Amino acid sequence: MIVGIDAGGTLIKVAYTENGSLHFTKYPIAEIERVATWINELENPVICVTGGKSGVLRSLLNKNSKEMVEFEATHRGVQFLLDRMGRAEDVYVVTNVGTGTSIHCIQNNMQERLGGTGVGGGTLVGLSHLLTGVTDYEEIVELASKGSRDRIDLKVKHIYEGKKPPIPGELTASNFGNDLFAVAGELSKEELLSTVVGLVGETVSTVSVLAARQCSSSTIIYIGSSFIHNSLLKEVVESYTILRGATPLFLENGEFSGAVGAMISL
Ligand code: ATP
Ligand code: MG
Repeated sequence: MIVGIDAGGTLIKVAYTENGSLHFTKYPIAEIERVATWINELENPVICVTGGKSGVLRSLLNKNSKEMVEFEATHRGVQFLLDRMGRAEDVYVVTNVGTGTSIHCIQNNMQERLGGTGVGGGTLVGLSHLLTGVTDYEEIVELASKGSRDRIDLKVKHIYEGKKPPIPGELTASNFGNDLFAVAGELSKEELLSTVVGLVGETVSTVSVLAARQCSSSTIIYIGSSFIHNSLLKEVVESYTILRGATPLFLENGEFSGAVGAMISL
């Protein structure tokens, strides 16, 4: 069995081939010992590990394993998954919305990290919990999908009252910037959570579009587990990226890019 593992800050992603077919699984980082036990019990596996927790995982393995730099693994994996989707992009930006967010330019078959932001999937979970007490990721995204941001966010058009704004009025002028003091006590979990998703999505897409100016392509490929079951985040990122003049693309199984890149390096 050929196994690629991306042990990130929050989730461990595993890609493996068995009898010629490709499989994906993921585990919370708290279950790193369980993943190690699974690998230790495999017969003759070939293993490559990447991600910030790769050192921790490798220290738990009783088998030989290769290690790969995360950004390189992600780049290789994205190329593989693009091919699988029948896409032919060769110059593009990759924005990986993991626990944090990392942005890369791919051209001439090389990747360069353009930057990132600490606003990412970890912010989504952390801020959501602080505001509503909800801890479960699936519950957070489910409730967020039912909420409205109207009472919490301030749009450009709200500031430019009775006057044509110099930028699209639908842009958010201030996330959580509406006049909240009067309504704070009556805001629902759904409203608060959808606004958190809005904050994360708009930050990630704005930073990506700005970073894309350093890359000769305005196609931005979004990956990372923060998009799992999170169609609201996808919608926010898609519409904001388009509004800012770039072209978004969500990669199928994109959250496994690092794991796939590690696997195909073997
Ligand atoms: P990093 O690359 O920054 O080290 P990571 O690789 O662990 O982190 P991802 O797995 O890409 O990051 O994404 C983690 C995010 O995915 C979480 O912060 C959360 O928003 C979201 N997420 C999706 N599914 C889950 C889940 N089952 N449990 C917790 N978070 C989840
Ligand atoms: Mg990661």
